Amino acid sequence: MPFTENVVPSSLSKQLIVPCGIRGAWPRERLEGWGYVKRATSRQLFCFIVFSASRFLSCFVFWIAKSRRKIMSETEAATSSSEHMPESMDSNEKMEEFAEPDVKRRKISKTADTEKKYKLEDRLGGILCCAVCLDLPRAAVYQCSNGHLMCAGCFTHVLADARLRDELATCPSCRVEISKTSATRNLAVENAVSELPSECQFCNKQFPRNSLERHEDHECEERISGCKYSRIGCPWRGPVHERAEHESECTHPNRKGSEVIEALEVMDQQMSEERKLYDTIFDLLGYEKIIFNDLQLKPYRTDEFVHRLFYESSRFSAFNNQWVVKARINNSQKDPTQSSDREMTYQLILKSKSTTPLNLSYIVLRGPVGDIHVKPRIHEFEFTDVNNESPYVNLPVPDTAECNRLLAAKTINFRLIMFLASK
Ligand SMILES: [Zn+2]
Ligand SMILES: [Zn+2]
Ligand SMILES: [Zn+2]
Ligand SMILES: [Zn+2]
Repeated sequence: MPFTENVVPSSLSKQLIVPCGIRGAWPRERLEGWGYVKRATSRQLFCFIVFSASRFLSCFVFWIAKSRRKIMSETEAATSSSEHMPESMDSNEKMEEFAEPDVKRRKISKTADTEKKYKLEDRLGGILCCAVCLDLPRAAVYQCSNGHLMCAGCFTHVLADARLRDELATCPSCRVEISKTSATRNLAVENAVSELPSECQFCNKQFPRNSLERHEDHECEERISGCKYSRIGCPWRGPVHERAEHESECTHPNRKGSEVIEALEVMDQQMSEERKLYDTIFDLLGYEKIIFNDLQLKPYRTDEFVHRLFYESSRFSAFNNQWVVKARINNSQKDPTQSSDREMTYQLILKSKSTTPLNLSYIVLRGPVGDIHVKPRIHEFEFTDVNNESPYVNLPVPDTAECNRLLAAKTINFRLIMFLASK
């Protein structure tokens, strides 16, 4: 039998032959079976090669990925030397998935460093300061509609400058329009600032701003005070804790009257000037003709090439005549916004014809609707047909800040009292 010649020794072939044999008789099927075995083996080999190649390729890719990860973890350990993690490779890989990128981590550690350098109050001071003067506001804090902060002084200064330039006032930070009605107070900032520490000017100790004034005026042992014998000429000034010691040794109480009289005379002179003012007022109150008007000054512009700001009241009547009050800033300086000092002057103008000269004394006071802080000053002028305008005289407001406050307001309200001297 030629079957023995065609022995298929491998178990693989046997397995393949068996199903062939089942199908039919041996002699024919044997050859067919063998041929089948031959075909099957070559296909199987091809599959085996492909399978092995793919397996090898995947192993190679896995090995590359693993070695790359190992290199990365080593370089990271080198850059962040402080963070040693004696953990297994697997846990290291897991942590990397949740860890932040390197740059961000370094950024956070830098902020932590700066936090140590600057105190909280210093950083808050930089945030809560006025956008114009960069100082921490002492009283009211105003903000524009975008939230930029301004202290009360700078806020009124910005409004006053806008009035002088005939422009709309704008926020110095974002240029949004600001006005007394559109800007709001920020009470949270005012309260926060009042809690921030500030240094006493005398003892250099730190106190919350809301208690600093009381400390400096009444409590500080280093505050400057004078001797109780200053009224008889002792010029001593020094820290309050040395005052008692000085007063016990002060030579002024034992001086002769002839030695202290000079100091008393200086004081008398100051007192007499004040007395004179009140005496004159009482004198004027005895006049037959007294008229007072509560006036409102409104801002206007001159017709010149450079429009200058001036204030004028509406006409009012007094002593059968028509009158007007005019006021101007820094004596009509070309650009008052260039100077930080502000003053206001005013004049009284007789608008109607008067047959007889009018010898008038007048005084500006706060009045019932105004909030102007003025010191009373009496002025005198004889109005005639020719001289119907009084000279400009100072509106006696205490300082530039008060003047800016008046400029920032829409109108200036005051009371004018006029005394007509009868002949
Ligand atoms: Zn300011
Ligand atoms: Zn703003
Ligand atoms: Zn102090
Ligand atoms: Zn003394």
